[in-house]
Amino acid sequence: MGRIVKAAPFDYVRAESIEHVLELLAQYGMDAKAIAGGQSLVPMMAMRLARPAVLVDINWISDLKQVEIEADRVSMGATTRQRDVEDDAELHVALPLIRRALKWVGHVQTRNRGTIGGSLVHADPSAELPLAAAVLGATLRLQSRDGGERALGAEEFFLGPMFTAVGETECLIDIEWPIWSGPGVVSAFEETAMRSGDFAMGSAACQLQLDAEGVCRRAAIGLGGVDGTPLAFPDLAAELTGRRIDGVLAREVAQAAIARAEPGADLHADVEYRRHLGAVLLARTLQRAASSVNPSVTAH
Ligand SMILES: Cc1cc2nc3c(=O)[nH]c(=O)nc-3n(C[C@H](O)[C@H](O)[C@H](O)COP(=O)(O)OP(=O)(O)OC[C@H]3O[C@@H](n4cnc5c(N)ncnc54)[C@H](O)[C@@H]3O)c2cc1C
Repeated sequence: MGRIVKAAPFDYVRAESIEHVLELLAQYGMDAKAIAGGQSLVPMMAMRLARPAVLVDINWISDLKQVEIEADRVSMGATTRQRDVEDDAELHVALPLIRRALKWVGHVQTRNRGTIGGSLVHADPSAELPLAAAVLGATLRLQSRDGGERALGAEEFFLGPMFTAVGETECLIDIEWPIWSGPGVVSAFEETAMRSGDFAMGSAACQLQLDAEGVCRRAAIGLGGVDGTPLAFPDLAAELTGRRIDGVLAREVAQAAIARAEPGADLHADVEYRRHLGAVLLARTLQRAASSVNPSVTAH
């Protein structure tokens, strides 16, 4: 028997406003799915892993694409394209870790269509943007017609592999990313995948703020692909503050972090390999970021 490569029949509705999306999602409930960049949903429909009866196209709503950079945060509409964020010089300065993460997301072609919000709602445990959201402590704002609005921290948003707190009648409206202000903000993102552009077997991210002597004043760290959700470790990150990060300290913190993860096994990597990978990648990101040349000139 041949493999199914075509989606089951569905209706298509182009939503004209956020209110229209919420109305359609309320009307059709679990039969509807929002389509953003379609880079995950379309392949899933083609393989019939998803069979929405109604596709609600949210690409034409300008309110969902607004990006506002304020003093301490960036508010980013859910359908902002990944490539637009990657190419934006101001966002690069405000959110250096996001740009680093995006470089690892699929290919230029998928990033041209794929949206920031779509990647977060898809919630692949190996995906880079969910890891960045966990590490930076992003806030995700959801709306529904009958439930109104709620804002969730990344730790409440990601519930399991491809499983988030987004209800079937809810739409992700925007994401608020905190900006670290002041000099010496450095970051690193590392991952290992079978091929360039593939989902990671393991990934690690960190953002540090170093003073002029290279002493860590603020830190955020996390691991992806080694558990059902991206993992952030605020308490371990706090142990880095007031210290100079060398190889010994980086490995110590990385070991403590991976000890809390529960990696799965698949064709490409067993549990032990994923543990090893997570520890190596996190130690490497810490060392890379901490040894960034002249942190005082990387100021936001
Ligand atoms: C060849 C290839 C390689 C890839 N490699 C990677 C990779 O290395 N790393 C990675 O992270 N991703 C990768 N991806 C996936 C890509 O990043 C997708 O862009 C992303 O996962 C989904 O974003 P999207 O905008 O395309 O969402 P869609 O595919 O349109 O939607 C994904 C899901 O989110 C829901 N959704 C979307 N937006 C909203 C919203 N605002 N509110 C509520 N629900 C919403 C949809 O209903 C659907 O369930 C790859 C994709 C391809 C095709």
